[in-house]
Amino acid sequence: MEQQKPIELATPRVRSSLQSTVVWGSRVVTVGGGAPVRIQSMTNTDTEQAIETAVQVKELALAGSEMVRITVNTPEAAQAVPYIREQLDRMGVDVPLIGDFHYNGHRLLSDFPDCAQALSKYRINPGNVGKGDKRDRQFGQMIEAAVRWNKPVRIGVNWGSLDQELLASMMDENSRRPQPWDAKPVMYEALIASAIGSAQRAEEMGLPANRITLSCKVSGVRDLIAVYRELGRRCNYPLHLGLTEAGMGTKGTVASAAALAVLLQEGIGDTIRVSLTPAPGESRTQEVVIASEILQSLGLRTFVPSVTACPGCGRTTSTTFQELTQQIDDFLRAQMPVWRERYPGVENLKVAVMGCIVNGPGESKHADIGISLPGTGEAPAAPVFIDGEKRMTLRGENIASDFQQVVENYIQQRFGADAVSA
Ligand code: SF4
Repeated sequence: MEQQKPIELATPRVRSSLQSTVVWGSRVVTVGGGAPVRIQSMTNTDTEQAIETAVQVKELALAGSEMVRITVNTPEAAQAVPYIREQLDRMGVDVPLIGDFHYNGHRLLSDFPDCAQALSKYRINPGNVGKGDKRDRQFGQMIEAAVRWNKPVRIGVNWGSLDQELLASMMDENSRRPQPWDAKPVMYEALIASAIGSAQRAEEMGLPANRITLSCKVSGVRDLIAVYRELGRRCNYPLHLGLTEAGMGTKGTVASAAALAVLLQEGIGDTIRVSLTPAPGESRTQEVVIASEILQSLGLRTFVPSVTACPGCGRTTSTTFQELTQQIDDFLRAQMPVWRERYPGVENLKVAVMGCIVNGPGESKHADIGISLPGTGEAPAAPVFIDGEKRMTLRGENIASDFQQVVENYIQQRFGADAVSA
């Protein structure tokens, strides 16, 4: 009989041996080459409004964004960039800023050297650098600025602004094939050719390969997977991964998670952005929260303790279980800015909040600390499991606050200074 092999958890491979560094002051963010997958985000403020932009950059950085991109679209915006940087430095926020350039980036980077210096990285869209003979010249001017100021770049292709001349010539070429391809694979090829061809031109102009990151963003989940698989196969540059124009709310979140999870599990993607449209009044930081959750759920990084909870069913009809889950989750997240320093490793904690006896004790034993709440008709008692053992039973009106205290005590004992030095 054939020997059965154990099922293995796919280990993400290091797809790029090149590592790009994005630097501001003493803050160095490594991208690719085995570094953790980095989270980045983008402001939606008017960059000319420097204070408003600096405040949003700070919010995004505090939420966990390791690089923040800002639009640099006008001379006034370019003038505001050094001031935004100064405000952030004053607030003690050293997150690197990436300038997002389209159409006039070549002029802005040469006319505003303070802007070019204050940015830690430039995003260049090869589809938006100019047409005809201007295209190569203006792209070249941006690369020259990157070389002069010692900055890395992202060559960011987007199917909404794909180089139309390149696409047209590839379509023509396709029409001459004995059996022409469908339009979609030609478009995939054009995206990849635009990104890799531009990166090669940048290298020829003197920009080292380890200062180049690539992206080829599309808005369809299966399209993104197809394009990035091929992009990852054909080049060794670190890849910035994201589903562009993902949309709002649940749709945008699910689509981003579906696309990114497949690729990240295959080891494709070195930095991610979730391009979520915020609901009116919703914080921009939501895209950072979702990016963190994607990485944490894949086991690639840990940011906050995880709370495992059952969905509930007819066996637990009271809202106590939902309220306790919410309360514990909110409590753990709210404490993290302080706990991260005070309790190193606390982000790896696993808590379970379960609705009844069916899966409650079992799932609670798998967690570091878990509670199995009484379901409908069960005795009003909630056993608590710590490190796989039943340690106590909570009863009465204050089960929620009592359990929160038990969690806090456990964290102190396991992750506090005494525990570390013991
Ligand atoms: S643990 Fe109990 S309450 Fe929760 S889903 Fe399972 S059976 Fe339902």
